[in-house]
Amino acid sequence: DPSQDLIFRSKLPDISIPNHLPLTDYIFQKFSGHGDGDSTTTCLIDGVTGRTFTYADVQITLRRIAAGIYGLGIRHGDTVMLLLPNSPEFALSFLAVVDLGAVSTSANPLFTQTEIAKQAKGSAAKMIITKPCYVHKLTNLQRLGVVIVCVDDGNDVVSLADGCVSFTELTQADETKLPKPEISPEDTVSIPYSSGTTGLPKGVMITHKGLVTSVAQKVDGENPNLNFTGDDVIICFLPMFHTFTHSSLMLSAMRTGAAFLILPRFELNLVMELIQRYKVTVVPVVPPVVLAFVKSPETEKYDLSSVRMMLSGAATLKKELEDAVRLKLPNAIFGQSYGMTEAGTVANSLAFAKNPFKTKSGSCGTVIRNAEMKVVDTISGVSLPRNKPGEICIRGDQLMTGYLNDPEATARTIDKDGWLHTGDIGFVDEDDEIFIVDRLKELIKFKGYQVAPAELEALLISHPYIEDAAVVAMTDEVANEVPVAFVVKSEGYHITEEDVKNFVNKQVVHYKRIKMVFFVKAIPKSASGKLLRKVLRAKLGDARIHG
Ligand code: AMP
Repeated sequence: DPSQDLIFRSKLPDISIPNHLPLTDYIFQKFSGHGDGDSTTTCLIDGVTGRTFTYADVQITLRRIAAGIYGLGIRHGDTVMLLLPNSPEFALSFLAVVDLGAVSTSANPLFTQTEIAKQAKGSAAKMIITKPCYVHKLTNLQRLGVVIVCVDDGNDVVSLADGCVSFTELTQADETKLPKPEISPEDTVSIPYSSGTTGLPKGVMITHKGLVTSVAQKVDGENPNLNFTGDDVIICFLPMFHTFTHSSLMLSAMRTGAAFLILPRFELNLVMELIQRYKVTVVPVVPPVVLAFVKSPETEKYDLSSVRMMLSGAATLKKELEDAVRLKLPNAIFGQSYGMTEAGTVANSLAFAKNPFKTKSGSCGTVIRNAEMKVVDTISGVSLPRNKPGEICIRGDQLMTGYLNDPEATARTIDKDGWLHTGDIGFVDEDDEIFIVDRLKELIKFKGYQVAPAELEALLISHPYIEDAAVVAMTDEVANEVPVAFVVKSEGYHITEEDVKNFVNKQVVHYKRIKMVFFVKAIPKSASGKLLRKVLRAKLGDARIHG
């Protein structure tokens, strides 16, 4: 009986969210005619070159790029793929695409040609914005008519000759000729890819309304869940192609008028040097970064006193690690954020300066405002009381509208009452704090990156010498989890661990590489043919103990 459900809500009151606005109007509302924002403040900083963009620069440049993209035939509802490393160009391209009413899908530029092609075709991308060094992976798509735009970085002569369009040229387009698109709040704005609770990576449809809601839940209203302010300098080395980074961090930063300092990748000493140089106030991290930070003997060499908040997300952070980092940054607030591509941010520590609700180590904070959460029994589906672990379910306007072209997967994830089933096991304690304790779903997270077992299993069984296969997570101190494979050889064929690894690993991006192979007689399955991953994970425990 749903009326008996124990529903958890934020400790903060709900707010009114202007989610009728198109995303870019909402994000830059402070800097519009009526807002109180100062457009000459810094919005983006390129951590490598030191280039900066004010809020005025960003808004005019994004409109020019939008006009340029429009000139190349991209219209309302068309998909543009961003295949870029962290850079101001990523931010500007994302904003330009969505400003036009087009749809952004972002992918890891380190993906292999096959991985890129799957997402580009799946999302029907008409254009890909990338860098010259990745163009060689796009020739097949280009032949199919996909327009390739290349960010000029001085070495791009070859790729422009290859029929690519120059990004610089786009930034010089005439924005006054761009017709204002009619954007509905229900229009899809972004299609990140995620495997969700089961199966292959799928397109996750996020609307303008969903994304505006998700940002507002964190940074709008009094006592926001996550108080970025216009005075903050937020350093960003987490991958921008991931929703957590470009939505939760970048858009939230821009909504509040903060400065967003962008680095292409994580390098601890460079990060610390930039924290010192730019007086960085907010450092978003993932657990492996926390580990590197805690272990580094060099943290003393830098002045890190400007940091007021460190925020960890994407994967489980051990309590010991959290305690250790709290000791290293005694003047900063440390918080966790728990979210999912399909659901936006589900919970986070109420990380504002005078924090009346200090959260405990190991907790992910409390559920976001303007949303409902419950914990259900994984078998019966019945809502559970406090302190009882079960599957976390979340409901609210921030959720995806569904998986692209996959109503079945959508129905498995969002039930008829609108609850999204996260596939995560957790509980809520007496202080409303959420603790994630396990994962029901197949997903493997290598340093916070998604690895979908089904994708690796499909590759494995495509090998003629492999009869059957299953991929599960093995615990790893540095990466949190790594994928390992159980393989059944085809009868009469010989194949070694190295053969299996080489075959799979050249077809996937580095973090999906299989670390170990165990040959078995059969893959354990239920009567209905469902792969019993739990049994395999238990075996793995034995294998580790017994060498
Ligand atoms: P993604 O869609 O790539 O953001 O992955 C979402 C999944 O990452 C969640 O469903 C969780 O399994 C895991 N995750 C994210 N944040 C946390 C966290 N703070 N603690 C534990 N697991 C997390």
